[in-house]
Amino acid sequence: MRTITLSNGKAVEVECLSCALTNGYIEPDGGVVVETEYFHAHQDVAYPIKGLIILASKRHIKCFDELTAEERMDYINILSKIRGAQRKVLGIEHVYYFYNEDTTHHFHTWMVPRYEWMYKFGRSVESVRPVLPHTKNESNNEENMKEVMEAISTLAEELNK
Ligand SMILES: [Zn+2]
Repeated sequence: MRTITLSNGKAVEVECLSCALTNGYIEPDGGVVVETEYFHAHQDVAYPIKGLIILASKRHIKCFDELTAEERMDYINILSKIRGAQRKVLGIEHVYYFYNEDTTHHFHTWMVPRYEWMYKFGRSVESVRPVLPHTKNESNNEENMKEVMEAISTLAEELNK
């Protein structure tokens, strides 16, 4: 078991954070954005970037080649659907996708929107690493959090209609 401190300051003991989230043991702030048979999408509000979505498998696996044929189809379909919703309701022009197999959690893809303000942290993907702690430390204000939470609702509404 590991102790994980959530964005609301609450500490929880879990075996795997992804399992805890996808099984509903922990409710992500802002709630579930969309859920399929094999995947679960939410925003990690510890990184308050509007429209940033984490798409996690429900099964505790780590590597891409562990996905079954059904899970692969479900993954690409829901990933594309979320991407479309980010464009349609949030006007997000570009998204960066990250997924590392050596995670301490389990299979989850980060869908990080690229915004103009991120250019001051570097070109293309090099900006992402500094942007994450920056938002954690600097964007955790009421105004930005309100925008982030509204974006979660807007996306959830679009994806569940
Ligand atoms: Zn897990």
